Amino acid sequence: PAPRAAPAGDHLGRTSDGHRVALLANIGRAAELGGAAVEGIGLFRTELLFQHHVDPPTMAEQVGAYAEVFAAMPDRQVIVRTLDAGSDKPLPFLREHDEPNPALGIRGLRVARRRGDILRTQIAAIAEAARRHTARVAVMAPMVTTVAEAAEFTALCRDAGLSTVGVMIEVPAAAVRAAEILQAVDFLSVGTNDLSQYTFAADRRSGELADLLDPWQPALLSLIALCAAAGAAVGRPVGVCGEAAADPAFAVVLTGLGVTSLSMSPGAIPAVRAALAAHTVDECRAAAQRALAAGDPAAARAAVTRV
Ligand code: PEP
Ligand code: MG
Repeated sequence: PAPRAAPAGDHLGRTSDGHRVALLANIGRAAELGGAAVEGIGLFRTELLFQHHVDPPTMAEQVGAYAEVFAAMPDRQVIVRTLDAGSDKPLPFLREHDEPNPALGIRGLRVARRRGDILRTQIAAIAEAARRHTARVAVMAPMVTTVAEAAEFTALCRDAGLSTVGVMIEVPAAAVRAAEILQAVDFLSVGTNDLSQYTFAADRRSGELADLLDPWQPALLSLIALCAAAGAAVGRPVGVCGEAAADPAFAVVLTGLGVTSLSMSPGAIPAVRAALAAHTVDECRAAAQRALAAGDPAAARAAVTRV
């Protein structure tokens, strides 16, 4: 095995009284780490590797691409997300026919309804790359909506030899059934970008609807709280990997809600680490309760940042 990398040491996320929250990176390729010392990868967006491919990437091509990231993270966690194709992230080799409403169509894990071969090849490639490196590889599916989808994905991954399997919570239906979904997976990762889009029926790219897409919206906080509580009840990790995790004050709230890891662009990690280090976990919990009790995003923000 590769030699153990320098422990993240001072780079570990924790509150001032030592409550651990893993601070992980969102990346599309190893180069995005830019040498930053990170605890691990919380979201490896594999579709970004293949966004210009007109043919599906081969098994060998995929093994090479995943191995590059695993090699950069010896002994550390790497959560690989299976292809999130469709809607805002179209892939040329999966563009089969136009849909009137792509965000509500065949995207994310749903692609496997038509192209199970592509998902199976990807899972086999992740498993093969994982066998060659010491990174602690986990895999998760995007755009999961039901317990049945989660269970089916878990079975496919376990059959391929991947032992740690999770799903993203990006659809309100999945958030509402987080406890049941957790019976079928090892962990959850809340994608706040899409969870906002689908909860508020507001296109995530719409500047005009930015007020609805504000992560401090009470309805979004309630859904995240529900997921975190479901995880805490069974002792399984529940992370957040949407852009909102990069807001230091929001990270304090997420910690207080019981979220166990925060994943963000690597450059955002130091400020979030500093914010957590400035509060006890009880202060985070109090901040979370104030945010949940607020009537609107501005009030929630004010209730947390005032202190
Ligand atoms: C999300 O939806 O919050 C997420 C992390 O995934 P992506 O932004 O890649 O859709
Ligand atoms: Mg998403």
